[in-house]
Amino acid sequence: MNSTPHPPDKEHTQPADQTSDYWLTEYPESGLERNWAELRRPYTAEMVDRKRIAAAIDNVRWHRLNAAVAISPGLILRAIIPEAQRAGFQPLAMGIGADPIDYPEPHLLDQPRREVHPDYFETGYLLGLRRLVRRTVFSAYFLVLTDEAGLVVFDRDDRPIPEGLLTNACAARLHELCKGTVDGSPCECPCRQPEPKAS
Ligand SMILES: [Zn+2]
Ligand SMILES: [Zn+2]
Repeated sequence: MNSTPHPPDKEHTQPADQTSDYWLTEYPESGLERNWAELRRPYTAEMVDRKRIAAAIDNVRWHRLNAAVAISPGLILRAIIPEAQRAGFQPLAMGIGADPIDYPEPHLLDQPRREVHPDYFETGYLLGLRRLVRRTVFSAYFLVLTDEAGLVVFDRDDRPIPEGLLTNACAARLHELCKGTVDGSPCECPCRQPEPKAS
């Protein structure tokens, strides 16, 4: 995958309180730390773009690592996952964004969007990898454009999770992937309990 860093955009320089891998850290809610990667900075410098990507993150669909997925995102995931594992990030699940995210071609990125002809837009989407370390959930999101995936967001999620015995899936907020038991004992996540009947 292309990991060529883009030069930082001087116009939008913000104080960085982290390593140079990330140019901005936000706290969308208590316990959730969102780091914006330098690599895709030209695509996230404007608030409107960060909102677009944050909305797309909420619509990422998660799958087990061995799940069969569509070929195009699947091929990119098959390249990203070993890279992440070599870097010490052992993902529990992989995610595929459902939202298309349009951007002008790279050489037109610094022009006002409404002045760029629609023919010069490319359609991207997000891919995600999620890792669980004790009770902290880490998610790396990649913005895929013309077959290249670049890290765009790295989330550290320390928001509280339910007490009790949880599968790794439920502890990682991937309730849809919960298999229901941990070493033969039932997962105690509230997501397993039947919905109370409406009166
Ligand atoms: Zn659950
Ligand atoms: Zn569960």
